[in-house]
Amino acid sequence: MEVPFFRYPHVFSQYQRELLNAFTRVSEAGAFILQTDVSAFEEELAAFVDVRYAIGVSNATDGLELVFRALGIGGGDEVILPSHTFVASAAALVHVGAKPVFAEIGADHLLEPADVEQRIGSKTRAIMPTQLNGRTANMDRFFDIAEPRGLIVLEDSAQGLGSRFKGRMAGTFAPAGMYSFYPAKTLGALGDAGAVVTNDADLAQKFRRLRDHGRDAHGGGINLWGRNSRLDNLQAAFLRVKLPTVNSEFERRRAIARIYHEGLSDLVEVVCPPSDDHSDHFDVFQNYELEAERRDDLRAYLADKKVGTILQWGGKGVHQFAELGAFAPLPRTEAILGRSLLLPMNTSLTDAEASYVVESIRRFYERM
Ligand SMILES: *Cc1c(COP(=O)(O)O)cnc(C)c1O
Repeated sequence: MEVPFFRYPHVFSQYQRELLNAFTRVSEAGAFILQTDVSAFEEELAAFVDVRYAIGVSNATDGLELVFRALGIGGGDEVILPSHTFVASAAALVHVGAKPVFAEIGADHLLEPADVEQRIGSKTRAIMPTQLNGRTANMDRFFDIAEPRGLIVLEDSAQGLGSRFKGRMAGTFAPAGMYSFYPAKTLGALGDAGAVVTNDADLAQKFRRLRDHGRDAHGGGINLWGRNSRLDNLQAAFLRVKLPTVNSEFERRRAIARIYHEGLSDLVEVVCPPSDDHSDHFDVFQNYELEAERRDDLRAYLADKKVGTILQWGGKGVHQFAELGAFAPLPRTEAILGRSLLLPMNTSLTDAEASYVVESIRRFYERM
């Protein structure tokens, strides 16, 4: 058996007929930029997420930057975030002139509130957990820290679509959130794509202008320096095909996570991600991130068994890329990243393949 980490062609083949129909419909109409599929997708996404406004953008990295700009974050402001995140979370801060300040992660691999408190200083403007691996952080704890100090709670919800804390979806806790539709994300486009979401009408208006050169909807007045961060109408049409299926895809991911959890959680050498049963969390498993003893040997053994795994972000926190000059003492984050491994987690996986991954891991530790 061969279980690759991800099957990119499946992003297309799973809905091939509907996607080809969308391609033909949009292309024959010549409707490529800011056309009705963008506005229809924005409405459908807003309804799905349960917010007033969704604004399609080119990708979630631009979405992050637009959120910071719309909220006036920059000019030396410090924002506290985890280092176990995509470099884009921090890069978007740097691009608006703000300073990323990294704090530790907890056992669930998400930003640790107690450590955030230690790193608050006079320049701190905001706290930004990353809603990582398809799990939403316990947001109550961040609001408890932020509100008495007048800080903003933000979230990098790029990979959090569908995950919930106390029934509320990632991306809807902050004044504005964002989602990535990179092909390997839970809702994958056929290329780069993203969206920003908010309940604030003024922010929504700002996002529409910022993503389109500062122009208003009629292409007339320009009242701020914008950029080109528009969502392609073709990508919007593809996303409209997939959005109605996404809840069943989340259930499929959760079913695969149960196979992994039931098959592995008794191993002393392995720490499975938290189980969200009977908790305030609803996890959608964008990733399945294990901690494992002898991680690198396990990874080599699995590669030999034709099971593809990866180290998220190449196995390093943002602070560990020395040339970026953003080092911070984060021993706990480094220890966790040194033991972490992503197992195959996507809707192309069969039960038999997930069981084969489990058996292969068990066999590795039994040999010792
Ligand atoms: C994917 C991702 C991004 C960037 O999204 P793009 O759409 O690829 O720009 C940012 N932050 C996190 C945590 C992500 O997983």
